[in-house]
Amino acid sequence: MRAAFSELGKALEAAAKVYESMGSNVSTPDFAKGAASHFKANQPPDLPFRPLSFLTVAYPSPPAQLTLTIGGERATIPIPPIYIGQDGADASMDALMREAAPGHRFAHTKGISQKLLAAISGLGRYGRNNVCYVKGLGSHCSLFAQYTDIPFEGPTHDPLGFMDECAGCVICMDGCPTGAITGNPVIDADLCINRYTYRLDPIPEDVPLSVFNALIGCWPCQALCPVNKALPMNEPETLELGEAETAEFLDYKAGLTPALEGRLRPFFRNDHLLSVAARNAALALGRYGPNKPGESGDRD
Ligand code: SF4
Ligand code: SF4
Repeated sequence: MRAAFSELGKALEAAAKVYESMGSNVSTPDFAKGAASHFKANQPPDLPFRPLSFLTVAYPSPPAQLTLTIGGERATIPIPPIYIGQDGADASMDALMREAAPGHRFAHTKGISQKLLAAISGLGRYGRNNVCYVKGLGSHCSLFAQYTDIPFEGPTHDPLGFMDECAGCVICMDGCPTGAITGNPVIDADLCINRYTYRLDPIPEDVPLSVFNALIGCWPCQALCPVNKALPMNEPETLELGEAETAEFLDYKAGLTPALEGRLRPFFRNDHLLSVAARNAALALGRYGPNKPGESGDRD
């Protein structure tokens, strides 16, 4: 685990500048407006103590995968970093912070991206793909930031500067299935498909179904990144479903049976992922649609 501080006033100033600069990226006006107003609505923070700094931690959260069995063949669907094992993770991090700084007060950040605070504190840096990278962990890590009353004076880092490895590299730009990575400091969030995988809303007509590739989120820009490829890799945590279980799972409109839920829940350790996984698996395998596998006409 890695941790870094940022002084509250300077961090908020730097964050405000980033939210303003997002507004000038004309390709994502709605996204930028929403993020900026969410930030403003939560500043200054309404807390039962006077916050003086942010404490941000990064902890390992590697990718995993689900292997399905269809007609005797195996199909593996990636689960990008940060999604497995998130149930209770914030509470554990909160407890660790309190243990490390007894007598001090902590409150979860509101309205500010954890990635942004990690970049402002110097804990991490953005990649061209808008993902935060931490030394030694790449993007295979989760971030957790809290307001604290611990006094801290230190440098404020430029959150918009890409990590050094991005200089001259366009691998994620080339590998993004939707062209969302534009080379601007902020990606074109309207094109990034992550958000469609977080809810079970119908996929909009103008989003090609062939771009979906993961059980939640989207994986190519991180999977292809040389910074992640250079990490010491263990075999990803994998759950394998048999033929009958796979058939039940991909029947996503029917919902999970108790037996299947009993298999998936302890593996995911993330209720949100559990709620969207079957629909997203059907999307990733081209089986999203009402009539037959691969049919994409109906988007309910
Ligand atoms: S693929 Fe290249 S440009 Fe993209 S985040 Fe990784 S190092 Fe940076
Ligand atoms: S998450 Fe997917 S859609 Fe978004 S930038 Fe990365 S590769 Fe592109």
